Parts: sequence; C-alpha cells; structure tokens
Amino acid sequence: MKHRPTGFGIDELPRIVRGEGSYLIDAAGKRYLDGSGGPAVFCLGHAHPEVNAAIAAQMHDIAYAYRYLFTSAALEDLSATVLRLCGPGFQDIVYSNSGSDAVESAMKIALQHFAARGLMDKRRFIARRRSWHGNTLGALSISDFYQRRRAFEGSLLDVTFVSAANAYRPPDGVAAADLAGCLAAELDRTIVSLGPERVAAFVFEPIVGAAGGVVPAPDGYARAIAAVCRKHDVLLIADEVMCGAGRSGTWRALEHDDVVPDLMCVAKGLAGGYIPLGATLVTARAAAPIKSAHGTFMTGHTFTGHTAACAAGLAVQRILERDRLVDRVRRDGAAFQESLRHALSRFDEVGDVRGRGFFVGVELVSDRDTRTPFDASRALSFEIGARAFADGLICYPCAGNVDGNAGDTVILAPPYNCSDSELEEIVTKFARAVDAALSRG
Ligand code: PLP
Repeated sequence: MKHRPTGFGIDELPRIVRGEGSYLIDAAGKRYLDGSGGPAVFCLGHAHPEVNAAIAAQMHDIAYAYRYLFTSAALEDLSATVLRLCGPGFQDIVYSNSGSDAVESAMKIALQHFAARGLMDKRRFIARRRSWHGNTLGALSISDFYQRRRAFEGSLLDVTFVSAANAYRPPDGVAAADLAGCLAAELDRTIVSLGPERVAAFVFEPIVGAAGGVVPAPDGYARAIAAVCRKHDVLLIADEVMCGAGRSGTWRALEHDDVVPDLMCVAKGLAGGYIPLGATLVTARAAAPIKSAHGTFMTGHTFTGHTAACAAGLAVQRILERDRLVDRVRRDGAAFQESLRHALSRFDEVGDVRGRGFFVGVELVSDRDTRTPFDASRALSFEIGARAFADGLICYPCAGNVDGNAGDTVILAPPYNCSDSELEEIVTKFARAVDAALSRG
C-alpha cells in the first residue's frame, strides 16, 4: 500500500456524490460511515435537510454582505447563541473562515491587547509540545507537529514550547497524581525565565487532537495553568477548534474544568462543515483595553462573518440545542469508549483508548508495558485508516505523537446525531481494520 505524503494512505480517492446522515456515498455507490467526521468536523452528519434549507433560504435572500458595512440577522443570532452557549465571561466574537484563521486572530488579539495597554514588549507565545493549531504561518509557529512544520522551519515565529499534558506519556519520572502540578510549575518557570514582561500568551488545546490522538489534560491542569497565566499577566488562549462546540460533551471543552480562558477558538463543529466557519471568542477582560485604545479588533478578512456561513452555523447550533445533542454526546460518550475498549481488548498492540464525549483516540504500541511505539516506517495508523476506508468506515489516522515521527493513533469522532447502531458499526468495523492492519505484520 503506497502512501501519499499528505494523504491518508488511500491510493486513489473515490469521487463523492452524496451524503445521507452519517454516511457518504461515492460515484460507485459505495457507502462510507463517517466515524470521524473527517477530522472531527461533521457534528450533524451530512445533508441535514434543515441546515440545507436554512442555507438555501439565506442564499435566496443574500449570500453575503460585507461584514464591515452591514450586520445581518444570521450573524447577530449566531453570535447571541454562541455567547449564551459559552457561558459568562465572553463578550465578543471575531468570525473567520477556518480553524487556522481563528487561531491566527486569537494570537493577533492577544498582541493587540498588550499594544493597547502600551506593553509592546509582550510579544512572545508559549505553546506545548505535540500540539496542532493550524497551517497559517502564525498558527504553524505555535504548533509542534514535525511533519507539518519541517518545510517551513526558519521562517516561523520564535515560540517557546513546554511539555504536553499527556497522562499516558508523562515527562520522565512524573507520577500521574503530580502531573498537573508539575506542568503548571514548568509553565511558571518558563514564563519567569523568559521574563513575564515579554510573554503575551500561552496557547493550548484542552483536548489535543491531531498531534496527540485525543489527549485530554489531567484534572486540575487547566485551572493550574490559568492561575499561572493570571499571575504573570499572560493571556490564556484555548484552541477548541477540534474539541469544542460540543464534541467532548460540553459546548466548551473547558467547561469540564470550570475554566474560562481569555480567548477561545472554535471552528469545525460550529457550522458542522456545511460552510467553512471559524470564530475567536474574546472575554470582556481581554477586549476592554482594545476597545478603549483602538475601538475595534484589528483582524479580519474579506469573508469574515459570511452571511450564509453564519446561517449554516446558526442552523447547526439550533438543532444541537433543540435535540439536546451535546447532552447525548456526554451521556453516550463513555459507553462508546467502553465498547471500543472492549472490542479492542484482544489486541496487545492497543495501548490506550481515551477521550471525552464523541472524541476518542486509540493509541497503538509495539510493547504495551513499555509503551514503545511502532517504527514510523510501518505507518500503522495510516494502514488502519486505509483498511477501514476500504471497508466503508472513515476514521482519522494521526502519526508522530510520540517524538514527531513515531507514534500511531487513530481518532474516532462520530456525528452527535448518529444512531446507536451506527456507533456499533463504527466499533465493529474499526476493530476489523485494526485486526487487518496488524495481521499484515
Ligand atoms: N486547531 C486545532 C486544534 C485543529 O485541530 C485544527 C485542524 O485540525 C486547527 C486548529 C486548524 O483548523 P483548519 O484546518 O480549519 O485551519
């Protein structure tokens, strides 16, 4: 099986013709169950008639009026809905067209915040090892994802990286119970050694996606790092592009930790893939100096707040709320994880099954006791992804979570409204793909 440098181990891409709920159908009539929503995007599945009708109605009236000349009902209603779903603290939303844009905007708003306060030395970002924040140069600079960065090294921002918060792969000699405290102390030391007067923000994924294979931080971690950031006047940016918008069983992933970051990025589940849409949420505290010194956020693009994209986002969010789908994700997520764990228990190579809600990662190792990864050249996660795809299941293979090269994880992230029998089908087909990939030797 050949591997494309940027693909998923699939030799020839089928031509898609239709979506039907949790399934995609290609030109040959083959059906694919969307077990990962692509990269955790399609929270409502495909071709949802109500979302499509809302988009069509908006397109009929007007597709887009330039955000800096007009507001719209779609944008206003979506903003009110998202601010309500996010809970107290957040005040503004800056829309964008992707997760990378949302992260880029958060970085710029953090810099603008300190510029507005006359603190022009506060320019540096701290991020974490084994993280992914996006493909634009700023977002890529704060990402520790070797394969995706290496062609651009030398032109990226100078960013400081601290350890990942990974209970399965903690720093040497750190016990699970001490992990949150140790990592907060490391962040504190790092800020002090750089000089707090030089640090603008700390950026992290509350649950790491592609770079780690779904890694929720240990309990207490988010609170501890929020306290460190507050102590040093460093803004806390939560990148919830993948784990947010209900994916992990609460609308904000950090709700679970009872933490409100200064800035938060969402994208994938916001409009569920129906139209590209990202957003950066800004708290009153982060926004206040900007508003008084500059009046407005100095970030935005031609298509910022695209009306039809907002209509799509509004329709998706209204359905999630009306049908209590985030509650469903929270309620059924543990059982989904448990049935995966059960189905995979016969494989010694399955080292860890983890996650929250409908956001689950499976990590494969060559030795369960030592947690040694497979050789990267075996490309096991891509092999599993390709086997599953051939069998009509979409999952999201991610490689390199251990040292940038080695490490095999696969993400499962079904639509929030998929049926119980579709969840069972995901488990069965995924176990079959693992079996097929491992028996290949
Ligand atoms: N942040 C996180 C956590 C992501 O998972 C991703 C994409 O996978 C991004 C940012 C970038 O989003 P996009 O690919 O929409 O630019």
